[in-house]
Amino acid sequence: MLLEVRDLHVEFHTRDGVAKAVNGVSYGVDAGETLAVLGESGSGKSVTAQAVMGILDIPPGRITGGEVVFQGRDLLRLKEDERRRVRGAGMAMIFQDALSSLNPVLSVGDQLGEMFTVHRGMSRKDARAKAVELMDRVRIPAARERVKQYPHQFSGGMRQRIMIAMALALEPALIIADEPTTALDVTVQAQVMELLAELQREYRMGLILITHDLGVVADVADRIAVMYAGRIVESAPVHDIYKAPAHPYTRGLLESIPRLDQKGQELYAIKGLPPNLMSIPPGCAFHPRCPLARDVCRTDEPPLYEVSPTRGSACHFWRECMDD
Ligand code: SF4
Ligand code: MG
Repeated sequence: MLLEVRDLHVEFHTRDGVAKAVNGVSYGVDAGETLAVLGESGSGKSVTAQAVMGILDIPPGRITGGEVVFQGRDLLRLKEDERRRVRGAGMAMIFQDALSSLNPVLSVGDQLGEMFTVHRGMSRKDARAKAVELMDRVRIPAARERVKQYPHQFSGGMRQRIMIAMALALEPALIIADEPTTALDVTVQAQVMELLAELQREYRMGLILITHDLGVVADVADRIAVMYAGRIVESAPVHDIYKAPAHPYTRGLLESIPRLDQKGQELYAIKGLPPNLMSIPPGCAFHPRCPLARDVCRTDEPPLYEVSPTRGSACHFWRECMDD
C-alpha cells in the first residue's frame, strides 16, 4: 500500500466542547489506484485528508490516535522536519477553490515555475519552460502565451487545471483532491475529472478523491469509502456499490443522484441532518435518519461487517439493505 490510514481519531476542542470529527477511520490507497471518499459535509472526509497532509492546525484539531503510514513509514511518529520532507516530496493536494489557493499578484508561470526554482534548484528560464510544459500537460490552450497571465484571467475550469499542474509539478506519489470540481459547471466538472483520472493513470499515482457527489466518481474511482459522523460506514469496489449498496446511507446517496431517465420524478433525499459531532447519537450514528432502523440500532454500534473479502458495511442489517 502506498498510503494506509489506520484507526485514525481526530478531535476539535472548542469553547462548547469536544467535536469528535474522525472516530477510527481506516483506509488505504495503492499506486495507480483511485479511492473516492464520499460523505456529506461534516462527515470527516476532509479532516481525515488534512490529517494525512499535515494541515490540521487551523482550527485547533488534534490527532488523538491512529497511524498514517505512507510508503511504509508512520508519519505521525516521525520528527517534524522529517515528516515535512516526506510529505513535501511525496504528496500534493488540490482544493475546491483555486482562486483563493493561487497567488493573485503572481503570473501563473511564476507560480508554477517557483515549484522548480525552489524545490529543484532550476534556473528561472528552465523553470519557465517546465511551467509551459505542465500547462500543456493539463491541456491549457496556447500555454506559451498564457503562462504570462494572472489567475483572474483564467476561467474556473482553467484555474482548476492550473491547480492540477501545481500538484503534479514535483511528481508526487499521492494526490489528494478535496471537492476539486464542486465549484464548476457540470460539463466542465466532467472534463476536469476526466483529465485528473487520465493523469493519475499516466503517472501511476495514488489518488484520493473527496466528494459529496457520488455522481462524479462513478467513472474514475476504483474503490469508494463512504463516511458518516467520522466513521467509514461502507467500503467497497465502485461497481459493487452501484450494483447494490450494503448500507442505507449509501443507498440514500445513490438515490439522490439525478438520473436522465427519471426526469420529473422527485429525487430521494435522505431525511434529516448529519449529527452534531459534539453529541453523536449512541448505537448507529445514522439511526435517527435511517428507514431500516430498529431498537438494536439505538444501542449497539455496528462494527464494519465483512460483506465480502473486499467489502465492508457498518450496518447490522446490511443483508436486508442489499436485498431491498
Ligand atoms: Fe440503519 Fe440500523 Fe443499519 Fe444503522 S445499523 S444503518 S440504523 S439499519
Ligand atoms: Mg470538506
